[in-house]
Amino acid sequence: MQASQRESGSVLGSWPRIRKRPEDFPVRPHLLDYAATRAAFSWEAARAGLSGLPGGGLNIAFEAVHRHAIGARAHKTALRWIGKDGSRRTLTYAELSQEVLRFASALRALGLKEGARVFLLLGRVPELYIAMLGALSAKYVVSPLFSAFGPEPIATRMRMGEGAVLVTTPELYRRRVASIRGDLPSLEHIVVVARSGETIPGTIGWSELLARGDPRFIVPPTDPEDLALLHFTSGTTGRPKGAMHVHAAVLTHYVTGLYALDLHEDDIFWCTADPGWVTGTSYGVIAPLVHGVTNLVVEAEFDAETWYRILEAEKVSVWYTAPTAIRMMMKLGPEIAKKYDFSHLRFLASVGEPLNPEGVMFGLEAFGRPFHDNWWQTETGGIMIANYAAMDVKPGSMGRPLPGIEAAIVRREPDGSVRVIEEPMVEGELALKKGWPSMFRGYLGEDERYRKCFAGEWYLTGDLAKKDDEGYFWFVGRADDVIKSAGHLIGPFEVESTLMEHPAVAEAAVIGKPDPVAGEMVKAFVVLRPGVMPSEELRRAILAHARTRLGPVVAPKEIDFRDNLPRTRSGKIMRRLLKARELGLPEGDLSTLESDEQASAPLPGVQP
Ligand code: ATP
Ligand code: MG
Repeated sequence: MQASQRESGSVLGSWPRIRKRPEDFPVRPHLLDYAATRAAFSWEAARAGLSGLPGGGLNIAFEAVHRHAIGARAHKTALRWIGKDGSRRTLTYAELSQEVLRFASALRALGLKEGARVFLLLGRVPELYIAMLGALSAKYVVSPLFSAFGPEPIATRMRMGEGAVLVTTPELYRRRVASIRGDLPSLEHIVVVARSGETIPGTIGWSELLARGDPRFIVPPTDPEDLALLHFTSGTTGRPKGAMHVHAAVLTHYVTGLYALDLHEDDIFWCTADPGWVTGTSYGVIAPLVHGVTNLVVEAEFDAETWYRILEAEKVSVWYTAPTAIRMMMKLGPEIAKKYDFSHLRFLASVGEPLNPEGVMFGLEAFGRPFHDNWWQTETGGIMIANYAAMDVKPGSMGRPLPGIEAAIVRREPDGSVRVIEEPMVEGELALKKGWPSMFRGYLGEDERYRKCFAGEWYLTGDLAKKDDEGYFWFVGRADDVIKSAGHLIGPFEVESTLMEHPAVAEAAVIGKPDPVAGEMVKAFVVLRPGVMPSEELRRAILAHARTRLGPVVAPKEIDFRDNLPRTRSGKIMRRLLKARELGLPEGDLSTLESDEQASAPLPGVQP
């Protein structure tokens, strides 16, 4: 892979293009010719990659596990789990299927009503995967919760989602659930995964429940439009929303696993996201299993050296992670990574936040391959825009839409309609043409809000972006985070990426601060690299760097140095909170805020 010379132009566009050559691909990528694959693609034809239920219909768990268990992959490793203490467990497709069916049948035997909601509050342990796939097999709706949530966020989500079953651990039960149990009228059963055989009154033990299950359970007829998953958004811009997804979503998971992650039969795939967030489900559970590859699950939290060791020792070939983690690795520098052997690593992808060009290049330096940014949301259920194995990477761009996905830059008109902006590199809202299989089918209890996301044939994402003349999309910022200064709309991403170019800067976040003359001015919060001391001189140097690169209108006027930035538990920088605190405004919903004490500690299952 070769980085060409920097070209001039906008700051993001000035990074060297990474050219892909055939010798860069140890295996032939599924998407070799973007235009031709797109032109030939149809969702109907793609359906041939799935099996469908024997009696008709489509069920996520059947596609992910059971079809392999009765086919050629029965004895292949499906899950390779590494526990916090280094213990290991592997489950073949046949073994996983047996456990999953047992759990499905045991759940059914509890007498739950059709479509009942099963909430999961577990760390990344094998039981989480079994419970999720089991509940889907039995046609219950699964809502995974991030295991570090406190009692209040758990209660709010379970009340909203009318959870009938909760699967958790004794420890989490005691610390987070016991105190709210009385406030959850819909909750009928609590299943506890107790390793030690310990029992808790008023709950059912995992082993006891499983023992009641029958592995000959048959997945009932499932309509592709039956609800399957309820995922809460990250709460980056406000109160989290409950996005509802159906079994048909598995077709998107299949197609994106094929083209965006380029999964091949012998891959060892590692998605670092926690299934408490949508990435950890769509790509930490479903997509790799649908493709019949070996899915690595690591229970431990982020630690750069541990991750490097795992990548090497487990011979990971496709790795899907997030900018927060990449930036933390960058902080430590590429030298540490160079001690390891990453020769098995074929494809690196990132999602969740804009990936700064520095991050893409770090991949090249530390792993010999660039990170491939891709874009999607809880609402889209799967990857929508991506950089592909065989396509040149323009660092700072999120790539091009998946085959089957129509993306556009649009402007909302006063009459509520939208106009597609055809001119290249003009900012507008990123919109997707309705109707891809994993499109969310509603916001739980918020019909009006759901309706407002659509205009005519378009779903409006709430993100601002640009599209260049080659059809690559460039993220500008969330509509809520864009800064209006002296008649200009300033996207935080470009400013933050520019700040990160400065050798002293590890991370940056910018906000708009009211200014009597300009309306708003750009204020930056900067985290310095380890060992760099803040000083007035450094502040001036960073400001000067930004002015040279961005010009006086767009460059920050103020910089505050911080030890860390507020983020969601899913690892996203919360600019709205920086702004509220700066302006002394109410802080809003903080249910997903990673607490400040934890902010400098290892990340809780970093992910989109
Ligand atoms: P909430 O909607 O509750 O504010 P959220 O939008 O952060 O939370 P998610 O659905 O987890 O919840 O995140 C999706 C959002 O993350 C996208 O809309 C986008 O703003 C951002 N994002 C994800 N991937 C990328 C990417 N590759 N580049 C830029 N932004 C990204
Ligand atoms: Mg969102």
